[in-house]
Amino acid sequence: MKQRSKHQHSKRSKRAKMLSDKRPDDPLIDASLIAHIEKQMVDASDSTEICGYFEVDSGNTLKIREPYYKGTITETGRHTCQRHGHPTKYLWHTHPINAKFYPSEEDIYTVIKHKVYSYIFTPIGYWTLHCQEGERIIKQTKQRTKKRGSKKRRAKSSKSSSLQILKSINKSLMHQALDYRTIRDPEERLEVAKEHSSQPIIHRYESALMREFPGLYVQWTPL
Ligand SMILES: [Zn+2]
Repeated sequence: MKQRSKHQHSKRSKRAKMLSDKRPDDPLIDASLIAHIEKQMVDASDSTEICGYFEVDSGNTLKIREPYYKGTITETGRHTCQRHGHPTKYLWHTHPINAKFYPSEEDIYTVIKHKVYSYIFTPIGYWTLHCQEGERIIKQTKQRTKKRGSKKRRAKSSKSSSLQILKSINKSLMHQALDYRTIRDPEERLEVAKEHSSQPIIHRYESALMREFPGLYVQWTPL
């Protein structure tokens, strides 16, 4: 075993205790914050998206930075919530009943490109996404797809290449795996997702994203 200094060791074990399955340095998210956002989401309409920034307090715990904002999920599935004010690197938004319960391609792309944290709250749990790599893995992804010599239409830019991959992961590992082709009703879809909440389908999805974009971190926490 490698020699570790006393200082490093005590710091590590203290953190490990505090954060359990979280990675060191990740801010903490406490139950009251989750409950508060869940309540805001339930009180709003099924198509109302809420979004904003978090800030981190001295105890490394996330707090909502007031104010936060509201938008709508349109008929075509577009999300319109816009954040204003000075940005922090901790983004949050909701996916209410009428939205998909998993992150959109753009949600994931934003995290990779801007190296931010993103928390997505749904009625049945929340996603934590983070990436420390940024532009580099987007470029690498494009290189890799080139090498694979995909017969599919070749993506023009690094961005569209990454979005293409994200779209196919969302489609095959969520939409199709959860049988959303046949289930149309939003509440029914959520029920199905809930049944799978701590099951292999979600783990496969998380691992596929993290494998495809090394440095990306994706975690689902069921409520
Ligand atoms: Zn989203």
